[in-house]
This record gives sequence, C-alpha cells and structure tokens, in this order.
Amino acid sequence: MPEGPASIHDAVVVGGGVVGCAVFRALVLAGLDAVLIERGADLLSGASKGNSAILHTGFDAPPGSLELACMQEGYAEYLAIRRPLGLPLLETAAVLVAWTPEEVAALPAIVAKAHRNGVAGVRPLEPDELRRREPNLADGALGAVLIPGEHVIDPWSAPLAYALQGIANGGAVRRRTALESGRLSAGTWRLVTTAGPLAARLVVNCAGLFGDLVEAIARPSPFSIRPRKGQFVVFDKPAARLVSSIILPVPTARTKGVLLARTVFGNLLVGPTAEEQEDREAAATDGVTLERLVQRARQLVPALADQPVTATYAGLRPATAASDYLIEALPDSGWITVAGIRSTGLTAAHGTAGQVCRLVERHFRPVQPLPAPLWTPVPNLAEDGPRPWRSGGSGAIVCHCELVTGGEIEAALGGPLPAGDLGGLKRRTRCLMGRCQGFYCSAKVAALAGDRLAPRLGDTMK
Ligand SMILES: Cc1cc2nc3c(=O)[nH]c(=O)nc-3n(C[C@H](O)[C@H](O)[C@H](O)COP(=O)(O)OP(=O)(O)OC[C@H]3O[C@@H](n4cnc5c(N)ncnc54)[C@H](O)[C@@H]3O)c2cc1C
Repeated sequence: MPEGPASIHDAVVVGGGVVGCAVFRALVLAGLDAVLIERGADLLSGASKGNSAILHTGFDAPPGSLELACMQEGYAEYLAIRRPLGLPLLETAAVLVAWTPEEVAALPAIVAKAHRNGVAGVRPLEPDELRRREPNLADGALGAVLIPGEHVIDPWSAPLAYALQGIANGGAVRRRTALESGRLSAGTWRLVTTAGPLAARLVVNCAGLFGDLVEAIARPSPFSIRPRKGQFVVFDKPAARLVSSIILPVPTARTKGVLLARTVFGNLLVGPTAEEQEDREAAATDGVTLERLVQRARQLVPALADQPVTATYAGLRPATAASDYLIEALPDSGWITVAGIRSTGLTAAHGTAGQVCRLVERHFRPVQPLPAPLWTPVPNLAEDGPRPWRSGGSGAIVCHCELVTGGEIEAALGGPLPAGDLGGLKRRTRCLMGRCQGFYCSAKVAALAGDRLAPRLGDTMK
C-alpha cells in the first residue's frame, strides 16, 4: 500500500536480492523499523536468481579483503540460522583438480592461501585419493586439493526466509516499488518510488546490478556496474550420482572457472562462464556456449555422455572495476552503500548485513537487538529433506517431475510474501523446473494460480 510521507521509517533497503533480504532481516532484528523495496514483481529479480548455489569458505578469496570477511561471517551465520529457518545444507566438500603440470605447480599456493585465510582442513589430495572420492572423474588428473567446508545450499529459499523473518518481526516488504529519486531534507530522505512516496532516516543501497544508478541519488556514483554473465547447464537427476564433491578447476587471474556441482534439488550443474556485457537485465543463454559447457562436463566426467540435459540458465554478476566489495556509510547523508557483491554474495549476504549494522551503530544510531525474535521456517525443497508428497495431506501432486503438490503451490500463492510472478512461484515450489520444464503441469499450475500471478514481460504460463 502506498503511504503518505508522514510516516518516517528508520531505514529503507533498496533491492530485494539476497543481499538486500539479509540486510533487511538484520536491521529488523537490530530493532529498526525497516522497509525493503524491490522494483521487480517478486524478490530475487536480479543477480540473485541465477547462481551456482555454493556456500563458500573463502579459501581462495583475496587475504585481508572485505569480501573474505563478509564471506566468512556469512558462512558462519548461515550455519547458525539454517535450522530455525528450515534451510538445507548439502555437505559436498570441494575438490580442486589439476590436469596439467602448470596447474599442479599452482596447488601449493592455493593451499597456503586457504590456510592464510583461516580455512581449516584444506590439504593436497593425491591422485589415488581423488580417484577413491570421485571414481567417475576422467583419467589424467595430476593432483588436487580438498576443501572440506565448501557446500551447496538452496539459493532461493534462503533469501526468502530472510525476508519472511524480517516481516514476521515487524519489517515490511514492498515489491513493484522502484526507487526513482530522493531528496535529503532535515535528516530525512523523501523518496520517490513507482508506488508512491516513502520517507526514511536511512537508505541502504543494495540495488545490485542497478547499484550505481541508485547511488547517483545520493552522490556522483564512485563505481560503475559491469554485468558479468555466467551461463549454466543443468543435467537430469540421475547425473548427480556420478559426482560427490564440487569439482573445481584451478582458477586463473580472471575467473574461478567452470565447476561441476550437485544441487540440493538433486540435479548436477556445470558452469558458470564469465562474459562481460552491457545489458543489466537480459541474461540470455546461447547454444554454442551451452554446448561447450556440456562438452566440458563430459570431458570431466565421461559417464555424463549418457545423461540428458534438463535446463539451462544464466545469471549476471553485479561486478565493478574494483577488486573488492564496497560497503561504506555516508554519515552526513543518511546513506549506506553495499555494492559490487559479485560472485560470492549468496554466501556473504549475512556478512554484508553485519557490516551494515555496525555502520548504523557507528554513524547513525544505537541498535537494540530484539530480545526474542520470531523464527519463520520455510518449506523444504531439498531432495533429501521432508517433502509434502511423501507424507500426503497436501493435495495431489501437480508437478510430477519435481513432486510438487497442489498444497505447496497454494501455500506459495498466499502468506505474507506470496509469489509475485511465475518465476517467484517456481523458486518457491520448484513447479515447472523439472525434466519436462512445465510441458505436463503448466496448465494445471495456471489453473491453480488463476489471476494471482501477474505475468511479466517474458514470463508466460505456456
Ligand atoms: C553466475 C553466478 C554465479 C554465482 N555463484 C555464486 C555462488 O556459488 N555462491 C555465492 O555465494 N554467490 C554466487 N554468486 C553471487 C550472488 O548470486 C550475487 O553476489 C548476489 O546475487 C548479488 O546479490 P545482490 O542482492 O547484491 O544483487 P541483486 O540480486 O541484483 O539484487 C538487487 C535487487 O535490487 C533491485 N533493484 C534494482 N534497482 C532498484 C530500484 N531502483 N528500486 C528498487 N529495487 C531495485 C533489483 O531488481 C534486484 O532484485 C553468483 C552470481 C552469479 C551471477
């Protein structure tokens, strides 16, 4: 609901990606009256909707960087809160594999960096130990490094859980609300949004791929976003049995490279690429690159030759020219900037939120953590966790590939943060995301949704 400028919020968080959702939650739990605004029809309309879903240890992050600090704080917080929020953890570990003598030569420095970054248990793996861990890996690996703490999470339920906990504890989320401009007057931001005016003493810019444009409301932006696309191929579920760990390449100066990883939903993915582009929104895939990814996966694990592909997707990293995150306060302007959270933000989200809370205390106002916050667990979507179809009582199965019941779809269309578009419904339930990609169930899903999902450009119910 649009509101008059009379109510002045403690904070408006701009951008409902994973970072904005974590910042919103942290501010609410710190006792602030916070509002999260998102220009899309649903949360996760930007970078956060397409990533590799890895919970990183930071073993390979630049030592001493803000990115490393945020990742490690975020990693610890995710482990601390995942059970009360109902969030999964697929404990895969990672192996970084060297295929050439040059790559073997790089391994000691990778282990040393991990130890300097305080990441426990990282150690070399001899080829025969690697073979025992990953018997389906191609012949020819010359060496490897084991990173026991790298794991896989649900990239969509996590940010939704953060936003829902923020709402349950007194915060508000407004979608289809794009910040257009603002004016700071007597310590209050008078914000103009596409859904009406808003007033707040503090604005936190978490606008991801649009961060520099939003920043220009407060100051000439000190950074420019350079979207960097990553394309992925998702193999069908039986493929996941061929791989146990996340299989990482030896990174280059430019990119961490293409990895193979299981997903919590029971698939196997290969990706991402790293392609600079101008467009901040269109994350298109192309046949040539996808074919290269498939070939790369089959080179790494020859038995994938028999495995069909279920889906493809791409995500855009909100990169800047800087090598580190930018998280800073403008104390005289009631503004905090959170920018350039490019390749690691799913992991680092709570660390960036922690930084924001400390900046709030240092520059703006004391925080008073809620003494007994409410915890609002989200439904499990992970393959190895409890799902309603197993227990019955949640209606008939509608999506047979992903075993989604009518009850799950109904629940995702209601509640305090109902799916705002088809993408949001898919991310909340996994309907239409399985082997048939909606061929068999989209009509039933459309009938269940009725007019509760506003189609967006490019979003069709088929
Ligand atoms: C290919 C790829 C692989 C990745 N793999 C991993 C991984 O394995 N592990 C990991 O930890 N991280 C990973 N990441 C990184 C992670 O996904 C990003 O760091 C993260 O999504 C960035 O989130 P964000 O909230 O900063 O930005 P976004 O998700 O872009 O969120 C910003 C939001 O702001 C909204 N917005 C923009 N302008 C306005 C406005 N004017 N008003 C209101 N709202 C606005 C947008 O619609 C958007 O929803 C990966 C990213 C990519 C692209």
